[in-house]
Amino acid sequence: MKNPDQVVIVGGGTAGWMTASYLKAAFGDRLSVTLVESDKIGTIGVGEATFSDIRHFFEFLDLKEEDWMPACNATYKLAVRFEDWREPGHHFYHPFEQLSSVNGFPLTDWWLHSGPTERFDKDCYVMASLCDAGRSPRYLGGSLLEHDAVDSDDEPVGMTMSEYQGRTQFPYAYHFEAALLAKYLTGYSTDRGVRHVIDEVQDVLLDERGWIDHIVTKDHGEISGDLFIDCTGFRGLLLNKTLDVPFVSYQDTLPNDRAVALQVPLDMQQRGIRPCTTATAQDAGWIWTIPLFGRIGTGYVYAGDYCTADEAERRLREFVGPEAEDVEANHIRMRIGRSERSWKNNCVAVGLASGFVEPLESTGIFFIHHAVEQLVKYFPGGDWQPKLREGYNAAVANVMDGVREFLALHYRGAARNDTPYWKDAKTRPVPDALAERFERWQVQLPDSESVFPYYHGLPPFSYMCILLGTGGLRPSPSPALALTDDTAVRKEFAAIRDKARSLVDTLPSHYEYLAAMRT
Ligand code: FAD
Repeated sequence: MKNPDQVVIVGGGTAGWMTASYLKAAFGDRLSVTLVESDKIGTIGVGEATFSDIRHFFEFLDLKEEDWMPACNATYKLAVRFEDWREPGHHFYHPFEQLSSVNGFPLTDWWLHSGPTERFDKDCYVMASLCDAGRSPRYLGGSLLEHDAVDSDDEPVGMTMSEYQGRTQFPYAYHFEAALLAKYLTGYSTDRGVRHVIDEVQDVLLDERGWIDHIVTKDHGEISGDLFIDCTGFRGLLLNKTLDVPFVSYQDTLPNDRAVALQVPLDMQQRGIRPCTTATAQDAGWIWTIPLFGRIGTGYVYAGDYCTADEAERRLREFVGPEAEDVEANHIRMRIGRSERSWKNNCVAVGLASGFVEPLESTGIFFIHHAVEQLVKYFPGGDWQPKLREGYNAAVANVMDGVREFLALHYRGAARNDTPYWKDAKTRPVPDALAERFERWQVQLPDSESVFPYYHGLPPFSYMCILLGTGGLRPSPSPALALTDDTAVRKEFAAIRDKARSLVDTLPSHYEYLAAMRT
């Protein structure tokens, strides 16, 4: 049988265009790609924060920051800043920074034993100080904040996220305007031969085996292909609606199923650009603040069982202040969970059609990036080997199931307990294995043996940050530390403090760096 070399992507949101551009970068003209998107059915209109592995995507496409960042009003993200998850006025950071270890114990364990201050994030990481001070991770000449941090020049070209895992943590991710990124990638893809059809898919026709034969569009007639990629967002038009793949809900563990979002133009020069995403806990969820070059993206993610859409919008407007008065709100219903399998027959769903968890750790775009990397890895041959599909489906399911566990820790771990929503967060069902992990992490901090065992993009140090920052589960230090010489650890805490001070003194402000990039 002929190798599948005709791909049809339905959907032109972030998922559709990331998929089209990645496939072109991977396979060039050996693969024909058609992307069909409707100009009547809008994209989700949010999705602006990423995590640090996203740089592999841009590098794979051979895109340079100086080119794509100004075009997408992009900024740097060094961490997620969590506000009020423990108590009002408290904040901590979950940074993109490798945690050091001393005498075989992670620095956070030493911090529990004898941390110099109340702030584990400032004692154990330099990024927390850079975020508080609003610093750029690069010097004006372009060099990275640490000489020993991995810069892309040192790496083989086209490295994927999972190949990279376990090597040095790259110190930042990006924020960008989703619509501008889709536009940028549209140009990239069409320049490389992707056929762009603006039309609405009205029907999806199957052959006698139940595989997709062709799609029917309103104005362009039938479009055939070998492999169909469903990027139609929460609609799941091809995979869920046509091929009847069931959806596995995560809502028992993660109840937030709605959001209301605003895009608020602001004078960022005057206000300054915090180099992090902020997640501020609210009575029935949390509000994100994503600083871009020229505006902020903000939204209240909440559970419909605890808060109405009107209450959520009112609270969000109060939170943002008068600058948002004339801005129209975007109310969104979220489908939380994943498709039972994301690849069935000759149809693969990528993006929201495949699965989604609330955006607390900015994992939506990471899921897309992971999915397209895996699609290239497991790309089918003429025999459509079922084992390739199974490999792909397991990898995609594991990533989402793992992130589900990580997010559940935020809610179980939050000391906040003042409304029915936060009280219920302490008793919501979680997978059995996770319930056991919660117990274990209170006597020994998470390590590679005790977190979700398959690749899901989150190393054990991320779990430690959330556990220590949210403050509700009270982990104890390893008893062995009481018997271990602490000379080296005292030096390590002092070295981090000195390094943070020196970086804050020498790095430019985030705004200054981004403004210079544009000139
Ligand atoms: P969509 O943007 O919904 O695009 C669907 C596309 O399908 C559109 O182009 C539409 O025209 C097309 N379409 C649908 N039906 C048809 C049809 N019949 N014919 C033709 N075309 C059709 N992710 C992050 O990584 N970071 C974040 O900070 C983040 N924040 C989020 C906040 C919220 C509230 C939500 C809900 C999501 C967030 N996400 C985030 C997830 C992120 O927005 C999505 O992963 C990303 O935008 C991909 O969406 P998509 O392309 O799958 O779907």
